[in-house]
Amino acid sequence: MENIIREGLAAMGVAATPEQVRTLAAYGEMLLRANETTNLTAIRDPAAAARLHFLDSAALLTVADFSGGKAVADVGSGAGFPGVPLRILQPDVKLTCLDSVGKKMDFVRQSCAELGMEDVQCLWGRAEEQPQLRERFDVVTSRAVAELHLLSELCLPLVKVGGLFLAMKNPDCDEEVKRGDFAVRTMGGRVREIRRYDIPGADATHAAVVIEKVKQTPPQYPRRWAQIRKKPLLG
Ligand code: SAM
Repeated sequence: MENIIREGLAAMGVAATPEQVRTLAAYGEMLLRANETTNLTAIRDPAAAARLHFLDSAALLTVADFSGGKAVADVGSGAGFPGVPLRILQPDVKLTCLDSVGKKMDFVRQSCAELGMEDVQCLWGRAEEQPQLRERFDVVTSRAVAELHLLSELCLPLVKVGGLFLAMKNPDCDEEVKRGDFAVRTMGGRVREIRRYDIPGADATHAAVVIEKVKQTPPQYPRRWAQIRKKPLLG
């Protein structure tokens, strides 16, 4: 894993010290070991995990500026992606991982602590039920959680005005982004761009939808999940 991560980061133009590369690989090894007994990821092959978890997550560093002690929330973080690789590569990031499955947050908390990242906050709960986190983050990330017209209501309320929401998607996401535009705007967001990037060695292109928070989210949002599902904001 270590070699693939080192070479991939260099090919992507993401700076990393040898120590950071070792820490990324160590986290990957912990993940694959834990995955033998707890279902944390469908990716079991170390080379695929290096590319599709670590390099994919690290690609966000080429999409947005995470420097300067930014508060970052990773919504539906699962086993810590993309949040944990971002925190390893940009150590002054103040990371909060949030997931509705407790055992995933237990894994992230324990693994981060073992690697000396006790500052990573792991919250077990639903993103739409966290009023204390409202408009607290400079950047919110999310990968593989929900379609944009639903995801926006989970994520954008957590972003400060002036901050960014980065939604990681498949490269053919134009229709999804169009469909999500009304929800994005209702939450106070504005789609700035879709950034496509290649993952070295994976023969895969992925995309990050870059959404700016331009005004506060109206107080009636987010709604409960049942309402979000039943009455999605489709304009
Ligand atoms: N982001 C990780 C990744 O890309 O490897 C995990 C993706 S997994 C397919 C989706 C995760 O989103 C699950 O761990 C699930 O528990 C979480 N999730 C779904 N809805 C959520 C919500 N409303 N609030 C918090 N977590 C949620």
